[in-house]
Amino acid sequence: MVEKIFSTCRHALGSETWGRVLTAMDGDLTIQSFPDMLASLAESMELPGYIADLACLEWILHKKTAVDNPIRRIQTVTVNPTLTMVPVPWKNLTAFIRSNATGAAPLNEPAHVIVWRHPESKDLHFREARDIDLLALKLIIEQIDPKEAARLGKVTPGDIQTAIDQAISLGFLLSPGSRIRRAKPPAGEIDPSLASFLSAEIFSMVMLTLTRDNLAQVLPLAKLLEDRADAFTFNRLSTVGKGATLLMPEKAAFESFLREYDAAAAKNPKMGLKDNLINIIRQEKSAALFGGCTGHGCGAAFNFLGLLPDGEVHACRKFPSLVGNITKHRLYDIYNSDLTERYRAGSRACRSCRLNPVCRGCLAIAFSLGLDIFKEKGPFCFASQQFSGA
Ligand code: SF4
Repeated sequence: MVEKIFSTCRHALGSETWGRVLTAMDGDLTIQSFPDMLASLAESMELPGYIADLACLEWILHKKTAVDNPIRRIQTVTVNPTLTMVPVPWKNLTAFIRSNATGAAPLNEPAHVIVWRHPESKDLHFREARDIDLLALKLIIEQIDPKEAARLGKVTPGDIQTAIDQAISLGFLLSPGSRIRRAKPPAGEIDPSLASFLSAEIFSMVMLTLTRDNLAQVLPLAKLLEDRADAFTFNRLSTVGKGATLLMPEKAAFESFLREYDAAAAKNPKMGLKDNLINIIRQEKSAALFGGCTGHGCGAAFNFLGLLPDGEVHACRKFPSLVGNITKHRLYDIYNSDLTERYRAGSRACRSCRLNPVCRGCLAIAFSLGLDIFKEKGPFCFASQQFSGA
């Protein structure tokens, strides 16, 4: 049970140190006291400075998983009653938990972690609070007039509204309006206007962004669209820009989903394979590999670039990856620069992997999780050491 609840601590310490810690605690060990006992041993056993705070956070997440607070109907925008805010002295603890201790180590800088249950999916969500999250909470808790807040904060009323809208879409603020939905078509049918578009003689491809909240809907949707759309696939979420309002799936749920997706795609010819990590499953099954995201694995700065209206050229459209400016340099020179070559080469951690030519993970996701994209591989990789070499 201790291993399960504090699994990130266990992975961060490694099995040998973990064993020594449990031996040191011996008869005194209870699950509730584990974070405090870990704190008391940290100095003498030279454990990482973040370990006790990591254990506290894992304990809070565990307790939240066990409790199911009912969410009442509300009349005005209000804070989700399941929300807990935890001040922590370390940044990136949440990314470290999501990576199961394989990502970048937490940084010794204060942060806040917010934990809440989504009002519709009822799933437990957590993330490091961003400034925009804290602003939305402050506005609602202190009932600050949005116009006054915009004036004091020297931002536009639109910025204030965006903060509140994002919090509502994430579910840690509740809105009476957020319960209002368009009438849903009957189960197994699709919206009539979409149906008429799909029946027209126009090539139609559905590509959705995969998030924690729509993970369970993707395969039923693929089935529903099998005879209607010409192609169907998904793209993983990068939590940059507007994507920061959404949540990535948990690693284990994502891996199971990929396995189910690959199996379903074998029977449904409309389902396309795009996510590089599906190649791990195909390699395990000795099935034919496919070209990954853009034909040769990650296509950043290889077979695509992002060009912005101000001339900035980025290696990938999904995260800030500036490689030059078209108003100052020729595209040919930008493409052939050393910096662009670094993006093409991807993470050093992927170099020895057999799947490198058709994978190299997703740099945008590694960036979203605060990793060094040129050194560390994304935490969603579940390749065995046997063929990843890492
Ligand atoms: S190690 Fe890198 S290249 Fe290999 S499967 Fe994992 S993400 Fe892909």
